[in-house]
Amino acid sequence: MRVCPVIKPNGERCRGIVGATSDYCPAHDPARKDARRRAASKAARSKPDARIKGVKGQLQDLADRVLSGELERADAAVVSLADPERQATGA
Ligand SMILES: [Zn+2]
Repeated sequence: MRVCPVIKPNGERCRGIVGATSDYCPAHDPARKDARRRAASKAARSKPDARIKGVKGQLQDLADRVLSGELERADAAVVSLADPERQATGA
C-alpha cells in the first residue's frame, strides 16, 4: 500500500492512501481538483436561504392542498412534523 507524497503545511507527511490509478491520495490528486471544485460550488449554490424558500413553498403547497380538501389534515400534520426546518424554528 502506497502513501501520498504530499507534505502538509505543518510539515507532516500526508498519510492518505494512494489508489491504483494515481500517485496521490484522493485529497491531493490533481486529477480530482476539478471534481472537488464542482462539488464545492454545488454546495455553495444550495445555501440555507434557498433551501428554506423551498420548504416554505412546500408548506404553502401543503396548506393549499389541505384547504382544498385534497389532503387529510392528519397527513399534513405528519409531514410538518417530519420537516426539520419547521422543528428547528419551532414554528
Ligand atoms: Zn494526500
